[in-house]
Amino acid sequence: MKIYDISMTINKDMQVYKNIEAKKPTVSYTSDYTKGNYFETKIFLDTHTGTHFDAPLHMVEGGATIESQDLYNCITKCKVFDLSSLKEQITAEDIKDLDIKENDFVIFKTQNSYEDEFNSNFVFIEKTAAKYLKDKKIKGIGVDALSVERSQPEHESHIALLGGEWTTVLEGLRLKDIKAGEYTLIALPLKLQGIEGSPTRAVLVDNI
Ligand SMILES: [Zn+2]
Repeated sequence: MKIYDISMTINKDMQVYKNIEAKKPTVSYTSDYTKGNYFETKIFLDTHTGTHFDAPLHMVEGGATIESQDLYNCITKCKVFDLSSLKEQITAEDIKDLDIKENDFVIFKTQNSYEDEFNSNFVFIEKTAAKYLKDKKIKGIGVDALSVERSQPEHESHIALLGGEWTTVLEGLRLKDIKAGEYTLIALPLKLQGIEGSPTRAVLVDNI
């Protein structure tokens, strides 16, 4: 068995969406070894910083929240597709010939995985691709950007995926060292009640 860590490292210098300072994690120390004989930390973390899940409430008023995430979509077989030749966006045309079937969990590797700084022109799931994936009834999608979309003020891609029968959305993956193929994905959200997302540690596993 081989485990591939596909998570972002969380630290104060990590890339965050649009370089918004408030999205950077901060830590404070309840205790350290200069103050006492134990170490204890508080973290302050935007739920969309680093590798994370989105729940419907993120884009759909009254939508489901992250503690109701179907865990069978979090520990699951998945298919990684290499789309790193694309420069701008992923359209339905770009993925129509891929082996994507109902109930698949698909992960798209793009140029984003090769960048450690936030790039405002990151490769994104354009709305025709989001609709295509929804119509295919995939169970989940993983992307190597901090958001499935950009430059779409109506958030059509998020809404297509998170609306109605909810597709699991996993964002902020790091796939540079991952070859296209089939793996087992293991990535569980924290059991946070009533909110729209959660950080996660995500891994791919070979041969189980
Ligand atoms: Zn998000």
